[in-house]
Amino acid sequence: MNIVMMGAQGTGKGTVAGILKQKLNIPHISTGDIFRKNIQEETELGKLATQYIDKGQLVPDEVTNAMVKSRINELDCENGFILDGYPRNIAQAEELDKMLEEKNKKVDYAINLTLEMEEIMSRIINRRICSNSECKEIYNLVSKPTKAPGICDKCGSEIVQRVDDSDSEAVKKRLDTYFSQTAPLIDFYNKKGVVYKVESNKPPKDLAEGIIEFLK
Ligand code: ADP
Ligand code: ZN
Repeated sequence: MNIVMMGAQGTGKGTVAGILKQKLNIPHISTGDIFRKNIQEETELGKLATQYIDKGQLVPDEVTNAMVKSRINELDCENGFILDGYPRNIAQAEELDKMLEEKNKKVDYAINLTLEMEEIMSRIINRRICSNSECKEIYNLVSKPTKAPGICDKCGSEIVQRVDDSDSEAVKKRLDTYFSQTAPLIDFYNKKGVVYKVESNKPPKDLAEGIIEFLK
C-alpha cells in the first residue's frame, strides 16, 4: 500500500506517519528527515540542500525526485511506503506517478491532515526534535514535552529546534509555499479519488487509529 501524507507544516504528518509505519509495517519516508540526515553528515547532498532549507525554500525538484526514486526502489518498499513531505508540487506528483507506473504501482491513498492556521503556527513554534538522526522523535514544548528538560525520552540525546522552525521568515515562506504549491495537490489526488481528509485536532495516536480503520 503506497500512501502519501498531505497537510501543512505542523499538522502532524511526521508523527502520524511514524505510528502508521509501525502498524502497517511499511517504511516511513520523510524527505525532510533524509535531507537533515545528509546535512548532519555533511554529504554533498546535505551541503546543497541546506542552502535552500535554512531559508525555507524547496530543494530543486531534480534533486528531490532523484533522491525519492532511489529510496522507493529499495527492497523494503516492495510492499508499500508512507511518503511524508513528498510530493510537494504538481511536477513532483507527476514524477512520482511515473516512478510508480514503471513498477505497475500507484498512489493508493493521500491522507490530508487539516488544522486551523493559529494552531499550525503554535505547533511549529513549539516543535522540538531529537538531534539523533536515528531517533528523530518529535516533541512539542506544550502538548508533548520531554520528561527531562531538553533530553529525548527515547534515546537520551539532546532535543533541538530545527533551524527553519526558529526563523520566522523561513516559517512564513514554507507556509506560503505550502498553500500555493502543495495544497493544489489535494485536487490532483481528489480527481483520482484517493484522498482521505482528517481533522488533525486530536492526539496523533487517535488520528492514526482512525486512518487504520479507514484503510481496512
Ligand atoms: P516542513 O514540512 O515542516 O517544512 P520537512 O521536514 O518536510 O518540513 O522539510 C524541511 C525542508 O526540506 C523543506 O522546507 C524543504 O526545504 C525541504 N524539502 C523536504 N521535502 C521536499 C520536497 N519534496 N521538495 C523540495 N524540498 C523539500
Ligand atoms: Zn531521541
